[in-house]
Amino acid sequence: MTTVTKPVNFTELGLIPPLLVRLSELEYLQPTPIQERAIPGVLAGRDLIAGANTGSGKTATFALPLLQIIQAQHLNAEEPSHSKSNKGNYVTGLILVPTRELAKQVADSIKSYAAHFNGTIKTVAVFGGVSVNTQMLALRGGTDILVATPGRLLDLISSNAIKLDRVKTLVLDEADRMLSLGFTDELSALLELLPKKKQILLFSATFPEQVQSLTQELLNDPLEIQLQSADTSTLVQRVFTVNKGEKTALLAHLIKQHQWRQALIFVNAKNKCKHLAEKLSKRGITAEVFHGDKGQGARSRVLDAFKAGKIEVLIATDIAARGLDIEKLPVVVNFDLPRSPSDYMHRIGRSGRAGEVGLALSLIDHEDYHHFKVIEKKNKIRLEREQVAGFEAAKVSSDSFSATNKPTEKPEGGGKKKRMNKAPVNADIWLK
Ligand code: AMP
Repeated sequence: MTTVTKPVNFTELGLIPPLLVRLSELEYLQPTPIQERAIPGVLAGRDLIAGANTGSGKTATFALPLLQIIQAQHLNAEEPSHSKSNKGNYVTGLILVPTRELAKQVADSIKSYAAHFNGTIKTVAVFGGVSVNTQMLALRGGTDILVATPGRLLDLISSNAIKLDRVKTLVLDEADRMLSLGFTDELSALLELLPKKKQILLFSATFPEQVQSLTQELLNDPLEIQLQSADTSTLVQRVFTVNKGEKTALLAHLIKQHQWRQALIFVNAKNKCKHLAEKLSKRGITAEVFHGDKGQGARSRVLDAFKAGKIEVLIATDIAARGLDIEKLPVVVNFDLPRSPSDYMHRIGRSGRAGEVGLALSLIDHEDYHHFKVIEKKNKIRLEREQVAGFEAAKVSSDSFSATNKPTEKPEGGGKKKRMNKAPVNADIWLK
């Protein structure tokens, strides 16, 4: 006999009506796997380690219980903690994130989830790259929830704009990214300033050694949730082999042939964004660029336009790889491979979010081959090497290449002729 498991709903997770109403307005019909497994424990005050990619619904996993816990504290207290008589620049829930964009995005999500708390829960985002004065002003009298990047938070603490001694819940979002971006010292300094007794929720897509030792040091009998890949399997990953000199032509061909509604293309250097945009433009494709050299205003404008669907092709460095929540992004292309295997996961996590079908495409030339194998090994994936007809990577010294790599894509209208690679690499590298 087969048992049919009834899908769990948000009410069963123990969430209160102001949140339930909001979730229904947002058309969140049922919890994502991580929400289902984590929210009851977090509401009960447990520490949490969650191995979850962006796109899994992790923001709501910490934001919803945090709002509910803070709301309960308000109801138990005589007056809101940010009222005038409750002096001191306190924070109750502190969320540390690696990038400005993520800080903004997380704070916006929290404010949206809190829509039915009638303004009783204050949320502030602070991050570098913009004037500190406005943020200091926003922090006057304290805040219930603070979403911060580590560097700017330390600056604000040193100018007494905020104190961490009353933090009750600490969220470390994208912990691996935070450490890989070199925030280790800032994080240690911040942890020193927090009270000993607190709830900690740690989210990380990957668990390198640094993150593991952080979790061992900090967390107390945590609930551990590692999402199975099946939970995020709406994303299709493909890899196309191509000669180095033909990557741009292949990319243009794919964009035109598939007429993707939108695509996010990753490259490894800021100047390469512009360079590739110019090359695509010569092929009749308009693309915008997004990288760290752009001012905060320009970055926000490009991102908003991309999110609103006004930009079809966006070429970006890894600054866009983390946490950016672009609704229903159909395609992510690794034009350059990311340096670290964990960045691969973060990049491809921009697509196929929250159950949407997505495609993550990597274009690899001969020089990329070994590195891609490392990426696969570390991420425990194995992808079939495919070829696009008319853009086949050169076979150099063995027939085995052509035997195992039949074109799987049809050319748009007579693609380019196969060209031999100038610097031959043993064709065996293409074998699995
Ligand atoms: P996150 O992993 O937190 O970046 O969330 C990815 C996307 O999923 C965001 O656009 C959320 O608004 C959306 N989302 C989160 N939880 C749910 C849910 N239970 N149902 C539908 N969408 C959701």
